[in-house]
Amino acid sequence: RKGSVVVTGASSGLGLATAKALAETGKWHVIMACRDFLKTERAAKSAGIPKENYTIMHLDLASLDSVRQFVDNFKQSGRPLDVLVCNAAVYLPTAKEPTFTAEGFELSVGTNHLGHFLLSRLLLEDLQKSDYPSRRLIIVGSITGNTNTLAGNVPPKANLGDLRGLAGGLNGLNSSAMIDGGGFDGAKAYKDSKVCNMLTMQEFHRRFHEDTGIVFASLYPGCIATTGLFREHIPLFRLLFPPFQKYITKGYVSEDEAGKRLAQVVSDPSLTKSGVYWSWNKDSASFENQLSQEASDAEKARKVWEVSEKLVGLA
Ligand code: NDP
Repeated sequence: RKGSVVVTGASSGLGLATAKALAETGKWHVIMACRDFLKTERAAKSAGIPKENYTIMHLDLASLDSVRQFVDNFKQSGRPLDVLVCNAAVYLPTAKEPTFTAEGFELSVGTNHLGHFLLSRLLLEDLQKSDYPSRRLIIVGSITGNTNTLAGNVPPKANLGDLRGLAGGLNGLNSSAMIDGGGFDGAKAYKDSKVCNMLTMQEFHRRFHEDTGIVFASLYPGCIATTGLFREHIPLFRLLFPPFQKYITKGYVSEDEAGKRLAQVVSDPSLTKSGVYWSWNKDSASFENQLSQEASDAEKARKVWEVSEKLVGLA
């Protein structure tokens, strides 16, 4: 049978390119888990994804009710779950004030981390039930959360501190809207959320890989300077960022190429190592990359896991 893969945020950018790359092989049915049905339908059509190879299901990661509803709908659909890709994200680098999810969590960490945390916890049993030869849970990471890289050292740097803001609910009322308890900074909130994504992947690996055989992985697909992720940035940045990445840092990668990379992590029989953060070199060959100290801190991963469990109502 065809593999069955859920991709969050498949309405644009990396998610759409990945859905396309997988659907085109004819070996995958892609469940595009998105907040805007019409946008996704149009995107799937204009990308030329064969109709019989995808299904759109509603998911708004900025609402835990919506996450639970999605999980119920998915379970009722009777489809198996062979691979889950947590890809959606928001990036609000120019926001002066925090905005919030339905439950009142700062929007970037609430969407990118907490929404995906609940989703993947609730879908773990479906991955476990699947009889597919290689079951995988992939959480998209980023270089920007990795302070052991040049890009990760551009201020403001990611730093989760002692998690006091997260533990307080990230609501900007009786706690800070930032994980470390500091003043709001939209660019930092995004980087912090990506560190949480990478820590969560490793904590999943430590808790579940041996018993379940599920492969847990993260990746940095390269700098896809043209996606909607930068839509909130100032116009001059949006104009200069793609050529800067192409010619100066040489980290630029097209949406198509990035989609093929993520599709590899979904389906390549050679990428079955669990607990790994994948990157690609300039010849587009994959390699196992090193994470920064904070993004590989096992104690911090456990704490983020436990605090997040409380926030999303699992503990
Ligand atoms: P895009 O903005 O193009 O795509 C983001 C996707 O997330 C969209 O489909 C968007 O939906 C969706 N999304 C946002 N909020 C929600 C929500 N509340 N519920 C459901 N879906 C939501 O950005 P990219 O493709 O660049 O980003 C994809 C991933 O790649 C992210 O995890 C990002 O961190 C990562 N990444 C990107 C890099 C880059 O250079 N672009 C580099 C490294 C990592 P909608 O269409 O409705 O807005």
